[in-house]
Amino acid sequence: MAQNNNSIKNRPVKQFGGSTRKTIGENGNHFLKQMIGETRTDISACYQCERCTNACPVSHFMDIKPHHVVRHIQLGWRTELLKSTTIWVCLSCEMCSTYCPNDVDIAEVNNHLRNLAAHSSIHPKESALAVFHQTFMEQLQKYGRINEFRLINAYNLKPGILKNKIKTGTLKEEIQLGLSLFKKGKLKLIPRKSRAIKEIRDLYRHKRGDIV
Ligand code: SF4
Ligand code: SF4
Repeated sequence: MAQNNNSIKNRPVKQFGGSTRKTIGENGNHFLKQMIGETRTDISACYQCERCTNACPVSHFMDIKPHHVVRHIQLGWRTELLKSTTIWVCLSCEMCSTYCPNDVDIAEVNNHLRNLAAHSSIHPKESALAVFHQTFMEQLQKYGRINEFRLINAYNLKPGILKNKIKTGTLKEEIQLGLSLFKKGKLKLIPRKSRAIKEIRDLYRHKRGDIV
């Protein structure tokens, strides 16, 4: 006889070693559907082969490894992902996406999770990286391209950033690096707007859901 939904819902959650075991689908599949729709990658195709994690150059620094990111989405564990270090540590290098046999674009998934976190009330685990990401996006919207000099100045002006750099001594290193790049002609002081600035701003408006 077919099992009805109520009997599944009312089934007691099993305890293993003192922790509550979570099962696939227990949080519904709303988050999975949302992520598939918004990233246009078939997250449900993943069969946990771990090739993505093995290809990732920074997986050692992640609290949720790339293949586990996919599993978290399949399970609907949104909050855990938005609180993770992973989304801020990811370099968007696309090694994971390249090596995936099922074309799961994890780089895009991480990018999307980062944007969701930036617009949520969840305090990011890597707050300095989160502020840098936000500054990067603001600069891109303003100029349509990134000028390193403007970017780092805008970042330094965000609350607490400069103070922390002075405290840790990284400001001095950055100034030395900046001077060396400037002397080699690799640092442009005046930013030029991209010719595609209108299209880029339209994309931002579209993403935010603006009507005009
Ligand atoms: S490489 Fe692709 S299929 Fe394999 S675990 Fe990663 S996302 Fe899943
Ligand atoms: S895009 Fe991110 S998750 Fe993928 S391999 Fe690069 S750093 Fe790792």
